[in-house]
Amino acid sequence: MQKIDTLAAMRAAAENFRTEGQKVALLPTLGALHAGHASLIRLARGRGFEVVVSVFVNPLQFGANEDFAKYPRQAAADASFCEREGAAAMFAPSAEEMFPRNFSLQVSEDRVSKPLCGVSRPGLFRGVLTCWLKLLHVVQPHALVMGEKDAQQIAVVRKALADLSLPLEILSGPTVREADGLAVSARNGYLTPTQREEALVVNRALLRAKEMVDGGVRSADRVVAEATHIMAQKRRLRVIYIGIVHRDTMEAQREITPGQSLMAVAFWVDEVRLTDNIAL
Ligand code: AMP
Repeated sequence: MQKIDTLAAMRAAAENFRTEGQKVALLPTLGALHAGHASLIRLARGRGFEVVVSVFVNPLQFGANEDFAKYPRQAAADASFCEREGAAAMFAPSAEEMFPRNFSLQVSEDRVSKPLCGVSRPGLFRGVLTCWLKLLHVVQPHALVMGEKDAQQIAVVRKALADLSLPLEILSGPTVREADGLAVSARNGYLTPTQREEALVVNRALLRAKEMVDGGVRSADRVVAEATHIMAQKRRLRVIYIGIVHRDTMEAQREITPGQSLMAVAFWVDEVRLTDNIAL
């Protein structure tokens, strides 16, 4: 496993993989690697790709009052993780390497990015797209790997790649959960045991939503009302948004279309912001 921290070395290593006839998949992450990331590395390896994991706490995607400073950084542990999971390379550039002081480009997508997280974290997807487009140009992978945990991110990136006619294969994998149902996230480390217990109700609400749809309910209002009711029972929990949307466009739906609809939730447990979603 190669540990790389400069753009030039990453470009050269990726070029090497390609000239050796290997197929390269890029998995962009913020680091603090966990079981969710591992499942995506395995998914890509299973499809025959050499996996490049980027580990970069991207300053562009954090808002002014968000957790950029306190986001966990653990490069050595992440490198052992990548080694163990069979990644071909871990690319961990510094912020100066990625975005030197004179960097002035911004890449934004203005439709799929707008609802849900686009409202509560307005700079998020511009930050993600700007960073990822740069990573894609450096690594020039055959495939890009993403987790359904961030369903809107998948939709935004798909749309951006389609608009740019970038013929990248997209691999996406299901959300990995703890035994109790909590979606695995680096931010779960911020939770106290009590907060964690309260956060669990969100997964219960999503499962109830799915159960209603499986039982034939098609009214988004009814399903949202039920899920909201379940989440309202927890004192520390504040819903930022809850919506039923089309999984590709992220447009709100009144009528659920099984197989295409998604319920997405963002919430605070005290001062910790988490997200989750379920395909309906
Ligand atoms: P992050 O490091 O949080 O930016 O996540 C990097 C990639 O891993 C994104 O494509 C996420 O959607 C994905 N990911 C994060 N958490 C999970 C999870 N619990 N299950 C599956 N994929 C995940």
